[in-house]
Amino acid sequence: MPFPRKICAVCSQEFELKPGKPGFANRCPECSVEDEADSNSNVAKQSTDREQAAARRTAMKDLLYRKDS
Ligand SMILES: [Zn+2]
Repeated sequence: MPFPRKICAVCSQEFELKPGKPGFANRCPECSVEDEADSNSNVAKQSTDREQAAARRTAMKDLLYRKDS
């Protein structure tokens, strides 16, 4: 079954636009993979920051409770 042919907006190479292809519809799979890796690492970084902030809050609470008792 033929897929529609598109020209990648990044590397100008022709590629098949397959259904469910991740990334932008005007980018070939190779260029989409690069973008996805970038966004994935950003998400991981953000969640790590959030986890560290939560850990700090928990540590502060522990300190306060220890002070009271
Ligand atoms: Zn490309």
